[in-house]
Amino acid sequence: MTEPLVAGSTIGILGGGQLGRMLAMAAARLGYKTHIFEPGAAPAADVASAWTQVGYDDLDALRAFAEACDVITFEFENIPADALDVIAETTPLYPDRRALEISQDRLIEKSFLRDQDLETAPFAVITDIAEALKTTGLPAILKTRRFGYDGKGQVRVMAMEDGAAALATLNDAPAIAEGFVTFSKEISVIAARGQDGSVAVFDPGENVHDDGILSTTHVPAQIPAALRTDAVLIASRILNALDYVGVLGVELFVTPGSLVVNEIAPRVHNSGHWTQAGCAVDQFEQHIRAITGWPLGDGSRHADVVMENLIGEDVARAAPLAAEPGVQIHLYGKGEVRPGRKMGHVNRVIGPA
Ligand code: AMP
Repeated sequence: MTEPLVAGSTIGILGGGQLGRMLAMAAARLGYKTHIFEPGAAPAADVASAWTQVGYDDLDALRAFAEACDVITFEFENIPADALDVIAETTPLYPDRRALEISQDRLIEKSFLRDQDLETAPFAVITDIAEALKTTGLPAILKTRRFGYDGKGQVRVMAMEDGAAALATLNDAPAIAEGFVTFSKEISVIAARGQDGSVAVFDPGENVHDDGILSTTHVPAQIPAALRTDAVLIASRILNALDYVGVLGVELFVTPGSLVVNEIAPRVHNSGHWTQAGCAVDQFEQHIRAITGWPLGDGSRHADVVMENLIGEDVARAAPLAAEPGVQIHLYGKGEVRPGRKMGHVNRVIGPA
């Protein structure tokens, strides 16, 4: 086994939101410093040693940032290719570029999943909308290839004749069409792979969205044991195919008898926050361990947990919730409350696993 990165080393994190903040806190527990690269507001910078607050087009600043870090990771996917080129000159990036490039583009992502023999919704790149809808069938969902998140950049099409108008709402952005999957539940599985190729998979969680934004995750997911095993195998296959290092989230639809992969996120994931209360080693520590060469930790679940996001004005409930038994509060230190803004989350332990 290779030796872990020495204590006192610096981990660079591209992106300064709550995921970066929780990664920085986990890094500190393992004796590391963190340096945040974030042009905008950065709740992560409050708990980090350094913050470079410039845009991704400032390549000199990126170079200086990379030189100041021993290893670099990220908490969001849409990092420009030029920025990655600069980083690659000096400093290891985990997960690597390939994982990012696959997850940045829905067409490349879906094609990659299909190449792994994983089930996806039927999909087609849109050059001719009528042709694409013939491939996917109806109803369908049109999704921009890039920059979609929390259900943004998507539109549903119920009838052939509505295709062109629906596409127009995406402002001519390159897009794919996906056939509509009739699912009973949405689940996700969070998994990690270390530098030595070892894999640790957290239990699948069951997710409920509200207006496109994750609202709650329940563990254990109420699915048959066979599908639970499938979820673990799917995540492992993706990790190995990418020779991945770090934590990855996989979102899945549960259909009768099978799991359909919706998307992958090459980073810690909101639907993995329950691990903070349900596992000895949570997703944030697992990620830091993976990218710094530590052995992966014990991710087995010791508790049944419900994670609830505190979105916008929900944050006002934090204090009363804190008084309840079994409740862990996480606030992100964001000043301004805005509708749809993730302000924090709570993990409620329901009982032993
Ligand atoms: P996404 O941005 O791809 O995660 O999609 C956001 C949400 O839209 C998902 O969580 C699903 O609830 C729904 N959705 C996305 N793609 C499909 C699909 N092909 N069939 C049915 N529902 C979908």
